[in-house]
Amino acid sequence: MFARARTGAVQASIRTAQAAAFNKQASRDMKVLAILYKGGEAAKQEPRLLGTVENELGLRPWLESQGHEYLVSDDKEGYQSFLHKNITDADIVITTPFHPGYLTRDLLDTAQNLKLCVTAGVGSDHVDLNAAVEKGLEVMEVTGSNVVSVAEHVVMSILLLVRNFVPAHEMIERGDWMVSEVARNAFDLEGKVVGTIGAGRIGQRVLQRLRPFNCKELLYYDYNGLPQETETELGVRRVADLEDFVAQCDVVTVNCPLHEGTRDLVNADLLKSFKKGSWLVNTARGAICNAEDVAAAVKSGHLNGYAGDVWNVQPAPKEHPWRYMKNALGGGNGMVPHYSGTTLDAQQRYAAGTKQILENFFQGKPQEPANIIIGNKGYATKAYGQR
Ligand code: NAD
Repeated sequence: MFARARTGAVQASIRTAQAAAFNKQASRDMKVLAILYKGGEAAKQEPRLLGTVENELGLRPWLESQGHEYLVSDDKEGYQSFLHKNITDADIVITTPFHPGYLTRDLLDTAQNLKLCVTAGVGSDHVDLNAAVEKGLEVMEVTGSNVVSVAEHVVMSILLLVRNFVPAHEMIERGDWMVSEVARNAFDLEGKVVGTIGAGRIGQRVLQRLRPFNCKELLYYDYNGLPQETETELGVRRVADLEDFVAQCDVVTVNCPLHEGTRDLVNADLLKSFKKGSWLVNTARGAICNAEDVAAAVKSGHLNGYAGDVWNVQPAPKEHPWRYMKNALGGGNGMVPHYSGTTLDAQQRYAAGTKQILENFFQGKPQEPANIIIGNKGYATKAYGQR
């Protein structure tokens, strides 16, 4: 007993010494870099737009009061960019999925002092996670911070496609009124089969929100199966084979991360298995769906419509096919810029979560386990592929 207490005391004093050493290091000025999106006039008028270059996640006074250097910009592409020039001696990089600072292997190779990459939001696919593991970097995201925001957007997008909302609204703006023109491609969600690829935090919240719509069935496809109680509570059925899954759905919604197993997952081949006239909603990541193949499927009517807010390149170039694709009846496009997870409510949550991650890091405190994507033992999540 006494010996155990003594061992505990020795361990505690080692931990105190380690913490003191860490804090000594952390208390030296750290260089913190943030790549955020430009907010312009809107950000000057609306201080709750925290995720912008102008409002800097609200972190500057706090970081500077701790003696750290804080550099913020939206300039992220190319060797001459702010990101490429400043990452070389940065200790921490904060990025956001809404304006992704791509932390490629090549770029990480140039980062001599980097220890921590923080995603202000959810989805760290813009970081080369395998390279981060090899380099011993930690990657954290603010897990859960915007999952309700996205789930609500998914339900809205499903409804606007199924009910043919966008052409109906455009007709009103044009000053026209011809009910049959829009009613000819408008349906009820009730009685349809809806399925999610990925049944994690967002996928489950989508399914939960769809329950009162009395869909014919709610399905999911995910290599991580849900516990039986959750399946029963949500009223969902798992389909193990992806082609079989999409063939049963009237609406497919994509809610899995982008990784090597999901890049280009929805391509011309898989689209052949989709029901003719079905709808596809993707708020996960643009590159999970092949841009040209989706646009061709919408044009041909194989897909009645596609909606989402995520693009394979962000900002999306003017000529991106998803900006202009339409089905034969002039509808079927519910695309918007990447904003479903950056409502003002979400911004408040992911700004606060980013601060908490930094605070834990500076003080050598353990991070919230759910926020750890790459920890000191490599991948800490099962969401970024089966390994
Ligand atoms: P999560 O980790 O809670 O759930 C992801 C689920 O996807 C997991 O259950 C995982 O097993 C599953 N999955 C992974 N690979 C799969 C595959 N090949 N096939 C089927 N399922 C697979 O994550 P979450 O919080 O639900 O977020 C999901 C993704 O949504 C994020 O990674 C991000 O890319 C995206 N997202 C977008 C926005 C936005 O603003 N549009 C905001 C937040 C998140």
